[in-house]
Amino acid sequence: MKLSFLNTMSRKLEEFKPIDDKNVRMYTCGPTVYNYAHIGNFRAYIFEDLLRRVIKLNGYNLTQTMNLTDVDDKTIRDSQAAGMSLNDFTAIYKKAFFADIDTLKIERAEHYPAATDFIPEMIDMIQGLIDKGFAYQADDKCVYYSINKFDDYGKLAKIDLENQRTGERVKSDEYEKESVSDFALWKAYVPADGDVKWDSPWGEGRPGWHIECSAMSKATLGNHFDLHTGGIDNMFPHHEDEIAQSEACNGCKYVNFWLHCAHLQVNGKKMSKSLGNFHTINELLGHGYKGEEIRWVLIATHYRVGLNFEIDSSTLESKSLQEARTSIARINNFIERVNDKAGDEQSDEISALCKTTKEKFLNGLNDDLNIAEALGAMFEFIRTVNKALDSGSAVGKEEVIDVMKYIDTIFDVMTFEQKNDVPQNIIDLAHERIQARADKNWGRADEIRDEIAAAGYVVEDSPEGPKVKKA
Ligand code: AMP
Ligand code: ZN
Repeated sequence: MKLSFLNTMSRKLEEFKPIDDKNVRMYTCGPTVYNYAHIGNFRAYIFEDLLRRVIKLNGYNLTQTMNLTDVDDKTIRDSQAAGMSLNDFTAIYKKAFFADIDTLKIERAEHYPAATDFIPEMIDMIQGLIDKGFAYQADDKCVYYSINKFDDYGKLAKIDLENQRTGERVKSDEYEKESVSDFALWKAYVPADGDVKWDSPWGEGRPGWHIECSAMSKATLGNHFDLHTGGIDNMFPHHEDEIAQSEACNGCKYVNFWLHCAHLQVNGKKMSKSLGNFHTINELLGHGYKGEEIRWVLIATHYRVGLNFEIDSSTLESKSLQEARTSIARINNFIERVNDKAGDEQSDEISALCKTTKEKFLNGLNDDLNIAEALGAMFEFIRTVNKALDSGSAVGKEEVIDVMKYIDTIFDVMTFEQKNDVPQNIIDLAHERIQARADKNWGRADEIRDEIAAAGYVVEDSPEGPKVKKA
């Protein structure tokens, strides 16, 4: 199947074709660095990591930008509560964010622009919007976007502007659909902002949240790019406002594909900081869970389906993470078994299975990241190869491992190094043999080789030195 996604803009499955042949450009709304990210946020970042890996598996080059929102209503509020400068405060959470994405094996994006490094670009865009008549400075000295000047306003979230109140304004970054109105591009300085302020043609102040993403995407990816993603809560007002700003300012289409992931719920409720039902990566690691297990929980449910994370908030015992542990163990046990039992020969059936498994796996993912189909192809493969090993038919180690490595370019949870479960006395004998050979005591070296063989192990001489394995 050709790579296709459900485009939030059309609400339809559409074949994906990049604007620039083999080079894909994607923008993903990143964290607001005012606290540790919770696993609900990581549901969005893992979905984007999956999308990234699937695009690359299809042979495209990818340039991804993930912004860091380090100035907005929340970062200012909480840095003041902590008695710290905005920079020192957000630095803590930027650092923690990168540590967490490494733990979850989320591939690094090509660009991580921080909003505070792009203020001149934001000012330029706002000025462009004023010059073209899409924005105005109001009595409160803030600059607002005039939504009724942009005919397409509401096209992403499907808002019917006819029945909305007009002429109202909203200054806060987040608001509900019922409050659709002119939104703030530049917020005039108020004493509550402390020392967070920049000069601008409209007086001191700071940017609104939405213009940040329009300016940072323009600076890193250009005026028109392929994909833009985020959690479903980002669709309105954030992405709607981004479209209005970018298309009006740049005079061209902003984004071809919009993809949004459903929320992670905890025991049936959206995981969020405000509800206090959130869990951080560190908390779960502290309880003995591994990054791969958290990654598995977050990746194994289709991105547009609400994922219910089951956890006892007081004991941190989690059914979801236990199940992930079992699934990963099953996969890794299979790899170990193949390493132990498979050989050089391969039957035609297994060769054909290797080929169709890769095809089914990619077809599933190309169908709007249908992870269930991809997982189904993998577990079917494991079952069939296991049966072949049981019945003693020829299974080629290299080809089977190659399929698992292909699959792991997406999941990134497998262990391919063979476990060395050789007992200590055999390892000691192997060392003694190395010494005997160094001493040119060939008789003793051969004697030791026989002793090792009698215990059921073999010594193989490899370019990296002798290796001991089960016979
Ligand atoms: P924020 O730091 O609040 O701006 O959120 C960063 C990203 O996490 C955004 O793409 C949000 O849509 C996403 N997000 C927040 N909470 C959840 C959740 N419970 N499930 C999935 N995504 C979420
Ligand atoms: Zn954004």
